[in-house]
Parts: sequence; C-alpha cells; structure tokens
Amino acid sequence: MPADRSPAPFAKSYCRFTARRGVPPADGTASLGETGIEIKLTDGTPRRIWRYDELKVDEPIRPNAINVLLSSGEEPGASLFVQGPEFAAGLGARASQLTARIGQVRRRRIGIALLALFTGLIAAGVILSWSPAKWIANTLPLSWRERLGNTARESLTEDHKECVDPAGLTALKKLATRLSMGIPAGNTFDVRVYDWQLMNAFAVPGEQIVLTKGLLDKAQSPDEVAGVLAHEMGHGIELHPEAAIIRGVGLGAALEIMLGGTTGGGLANVGLMLAQLGYSRSAEREADKHALELLKAAAIAPKGLGDFFTRVMKMEADEGSAPPKALSWLRTHPLPEERVRLVRQQAAYPATPALDAQSWQDLKSICDKTREREKDEN
Ligand SMILES: [Zn+2]
Repeated sequence: MPADRSPAPFAKSYCRFTARRGVPPADGTASLGETGIEIKLTDGTPRRIWRYDELKVDEPIRPNAINVLLSSGEEPGASLFVQGPEFAAGLGARASQLTARIGQVRRRRIGIALLALFTGLIAAGVILSWSPAKWIANTLPLSWRERLGNTARESLTEDHKECVDPAGLTALKKLATRLSMGIPAGNTFDVRVYDWQLMNAFAVPGEQIVLTKGLLDKAQSPDEVAGVLAHEMGHGIELHPEAAIIRGVGLGAALEIMLGGTTGGGLANVGLMLAQLGYSRSAEREADKHALELLKAAAIAPKGLGDFFTRVMKMEADEGSAPPKALSWLRTHPLPEERVRLVRQQAAYPATPALDAQSWQDLKSICDKTREREKDEN
C-alpha cells in the first residue's frame, strides 16, 4: 500500500449498484477517476461516471471507514456500495463534502445519542433484572434499526437473488399490508422473497421480513404464509431481532453497523445469527400472541399458523436421518404443539382467505417468474 492514503488512480474496488429500491443489485467494480467514480458493472450496462461534486452520503465518511454507501444527484434513487478502506480514503480526499464539517455535527449528535443509550443501559440494569438489550433496541430510531436490518439481510441473502416479479410483489404487498393493519404503531412491514431453496422465514431489524422460495413452495395455502408472516411480524414488533443482535455482537458493534462505519468480518455473522439463533420460549410465545392478534385484525383464520408449523414438524420426522432442510427453521421456532393448541383455543371469527386465488398463484410463482424474466432479458 502506498504511504499516502490515496489509491493508485486505476485501482478497482468491488462495488454493488442498486438502481432503485426493490430492484436486485448488480455487482461490479468502482475506481476513482479524474472527475468522478467510474462504475463498471458485470450486468453489461455501459460504464457510468458519478461526478464527485454530485455525490452524497447518509453518514459522513470517517477516517477509518472500510466501505462507503453513496448516492448521486445525477441518478436519484440509485445507490452504490463500495468496499475497501483505500477507496473510502481516496474518495474522502477527492470529495471533501462527504467527510467535512457536517461530519462533526453528526458526530456530536451521535455522541449525545450514545450518552443517552448508556445512561439508559445503566438505568435499565439497575431497575430491571433482565437483560436490557430489548430496552436499548426500543430507544433506537427506526432509521438506525433499518440500517442494521439492511446489513443483516444483505449479508445473509448475498448468494440469493431477490424475487421481484411485479405480480408477485403486488400480492406480497397486499398480504403484508393486510397483516400490518393490526400493528399498534401503524407501520407496514417490508417483506421480501429470495430465490433460496432452504425453507426459512425470519424477521430482521427495522420491521423487515425475509421469506424464501423454499417456504413458499412448502406452503399449501395463503393462510399458512399469512400465519408464518404474522409470527415473524410478532418477533419484529417485540424487537427480538434487534435485541438478539445487540446481545450477540454487543452494543458497540451493533452501533458501528447502524452508524455505517464498519462492516467487515463480523457483518456476515449478524445475518447468520438471525437465521440460526433461536429465540427463547418466552419470545416465541410473545410472537405467537401478536400473530393471533394480527390475523384476527386482518380477518384471516389462525388455523394456517398451526397447520404450517405442524406439517413442517411432520416432514422433518418423515425425512428421518437425511439432513432435514426444515431442521434449522424449526429449531429456531420451537413449540409447534403449543402453537396448535393456542390456535385451537381461539374463538371463531369471520375470516376470508389471506389472498384470492390469482394473487396466491402470483405469490407462489414470484421466483420462477423472476427467473423467466431474467432469461428473456439476457
Ligand atoms: Zn419464532
């Protein structure tokens, strides 16, 4: 590495370009040119240049940053993630507005927020006998939690494409909106499907849920998917994913991610942790309690919630000694029998299917259709 921190003019760094929210990102390389960042993507789109004076960052680039997340006034809605400390340092030298005084104001605000957090931590530790991780999670602004969630989701789903067929997305949005009606804070969860054979569904921080194609394939009715989503939303409402990450990697590391400074090795673990690490039995009960409330508020029958978990359990037993795909998912969502009992105890209420037949087909085929579209485009 050269002694001064600017990179060689044509050094290329790995980058990931997202044209707009909801569109799968494209990989490529970024290098620091004369007037701007030169972006070359592997998807075959022409090389683009993002001028230095048009660049913007959510969080100022810090001296020890190891990657950067950028947007540009020339291409609204698009974002560019570039990996590497040399690139971050070189960019800071060329586009000082990304590091300058705004950074100090930001740092002060962050300092105040940190102070508030630690004061809260101590108070919670004194007043409450349980771990204050959830309490801390509660004090975090949604935008911070979203950033933590994006990091976790991106690191975990890296090898899998997001399924973005428009008809399927419409069905998914319809279902998420309907289920979100009963959420006290009035937020709508952001649910995304990934082309991933492993059956899984998990809540990530910032009111986001990841569903896999494997799970949609296994589901036999929209009510079953609604049950799974409602359960994951329950985890999200209780901030279980946020608390799990804070407990798992520590508050300091979690804050680093939320403030956009570091990623690196610990980052992949954050995503993996969410998918692998089970919640406590009491957390599962809390999630189920919310699930029943959400289903009721949406006028969706709760039976699907019990059915799906039960069938997964049976499938696992039938698969015997073969490595059961469902295992990790079931292990992270225990108590299937208790869930069925809970559902049975519910007083009946008027309900309609979670999705009409057409929307259900659209959702079921969201990943296949996405693949077909990509083939046609190539
Ligand atoms: Zn669960």
